[in-house]
Amino acid sequence: MSHLSAEWVLPLDGPPIRGGFVRYEGGRIVEVGEGRAERHFDEAVILPGFVNAHAHLEYANYAGFGDGSPFGPWIRTHVDRKNRLRPEDMLAIARLGVVDSLRSGITTVADYSFSGAAATAADDLGLRAIVYLEVFAVDPVDARRQWEEKRAQVRETHRVRIGVSPHAPYTCSLDTYRFCLSLGVPVGTHLAESANETEWLLHGRGPLQGIAPLLVPPTGRRAVATLEPVLGPELLCAHCVDVDGREIALLAERDVPVAHCPRSNALLGCGIAPVALMRDAGVVVGLGTDSPASTPSFDVFEELRAAIFAARARDQRADALGAADALALATVDAARALRLESEVGTLTPGKRADLTVVSLAGSPYHPVEDPAAAVVFGGSPERVLETVVDGRTRYRRQEEEQWREVRSIASAARARMLGSPAA
Ligand SMILES: [Zn+2]
Repeated sequence: MSHLSAEWVLPLDGPPIRGGFVRYEGGRIVEVGEGRAERHFDEAVILPGFVNAHAHLEYANYAGFGDGSPFGPWIRTHVDRKNRLRPEDMLAIARLGVVDSLRSGITTVADYSFSGAAATAADDLGLRAIVYLEVFAVDPVDARRQWEEKRAQVRETHRVRIGVSPHAPYTCSLDTYRFCLSLGVPVGTHLAESANETEWLLHGRGPLQGIAPLLVPPTGRRAVATLEPVLGPELLCAHCVDVDGREIALLAERDVPVAHCPRSNALLGCGIAPVALMRDAGVVVGLGTDSPASTPSFDVFEELRAAIFAARARDQRADALGAADALALATVDAARALRLESEVGTLTPGKRADLTVVSLAGSPYHPVEDPAAAVVFGGSPERVLETVVDGRTRYRRQEEEQWREVRSIASAARARMLGSPAA
């Protein structure tokens, strides 16, 4: 039995609790209420662990590769460097990704995985995950071969589910999507990420020609229309930036879950996804950090703020996205997007004991007026005191030192990618 309390508890299934506690046992939450526990966090907030709706743990230290390049050359740099890694390097980097996720208060991740190393790393270090093994295939026979090869390398556990990721409508045919959806496992893809994608699909031209051997023939349709025959609640779609009003209505009508990645979309010059319009239309949207291949970090707090900045700037309205809405995107809504809402996403008795504790000591948001705004605008990984998954503490701020070896092995793998003689 564990019992934690803090100045504020944000259960996300109801109003904030001043002077609240969370009690859990056997990996599940037993009780949430008002009162003080033996382990009390002053000037801090307890909230559900963040659910990261889109990431690539295996790219945890790809930061800065090809920064400022157009999408074609960017992806080429990325692929060339990845090819220099050995399987043990991929695992080392994925382990770093897990540590950095826990350190940011993340307790569940939807991870699109090239090698499957993310599944091993997440299970070893105690992060809950759905690991979608990536396939890139025009021919579904090829998709089956890639899936079977990758699936044989990984193990499903009670904490880590294995899914499949047909990469994107410009690298996978509809038959490949149909094959993936027939497997009865979680399926995730990238959809309508950039105007480059639309240009290739419509006209067979533009910067994506840089990855020519991977491309499907142009479909003569935009991205959402290309996938229209397979869109449904089973297909998690990351990005959805280049979508118009009719396409948003279709995503809502088909109950297609969307992972919104505002920092990645901004840094790659892809644009700003119409998150307020999607939410208003009834689309289930979860927040995703994507990976350091395109964003600087797995920092959820930065992602929350980026979501708010981008939505308000795009719509020229201060109420386009509020702090409490943003927090929902990264917890309860992301859990719905992953179809895990009965298990995680809120501090509700019966759900898994996945939570994080964020200090507000010395922040301009303390004393607290609005605890959601304080966490969203005042929070950072440096302020995460503790992260608990399945009732077990997996990260503690004061024990940061224990991750030194994980960091140094991952750093040697990065040196190999950069072609450093020391590697
Ligand atoms: Zn991605």
